[in-house]
Amino acid sequence: MNKEKNMDKLKYTKASVEELKNEFKNSGQSSDEFIESKSDPILDVPHATWEVWEKNEKINWKFGDRCTHCGRGATGTVMYHLVFGGSSMASKKDSLLFSLFGGGDMALYCIGSTCAKKFTKEVLKPQGLDPKDYFWGKDYIADYENDPNYLGIQDVGGTLEDQWESHWKTSGNYE
Ligand SMILES: [Zn+2]
Repeated sequence: MNKEKNMDKLKYTKASVEELKNEFKNSGQSSDEFIESKSDPILDVPHATWEVWEKNEKINWKFGDRCTHCGRGATGTVMYHLVFGGSSMASKKDSLLFSLFGGGDMALYCIGSTCAKKFTKEVLKPQGLDPKDYFWGKDYIADYENDPNYLGIQDVGGTLEDQWESHWKTSGNYE
């Protein structure tokens, strides 16, 4: 395996942590603005309405999970990174940005495999985006995820103490 080549595919590594923190400090932007300025497109995955969830509940309890998009039962084999505390989906390449700067990081949520395919066809492909960058699951593994230098969700490449220190410094408040 050519390590050098693999590393080229990584957008951020452990070396980016200090760089990004400094850049943010000097940017004068809010953490959400900073994240948006650095990230690949953050896409809206509209959520099923409460009424739809309620309506489906009679059959959905048989499934392990729910598709957030259509509200139907799902197996949880395809997930996405829910950010900005709402219905926004971020790229895997940008996990580090959310680990470092918050950005309403809600970790992984379920999308049904049918909806994932539909979303790929109607939203990702027309924008030239790769579904492997946006969906988690065995059919959606990007090469860089296997790189030991890849930083995933909640993985800032430092100790827990570093993470807390970063949280205090960047958010300036406790929640
Ligand atoms: Zn669905």
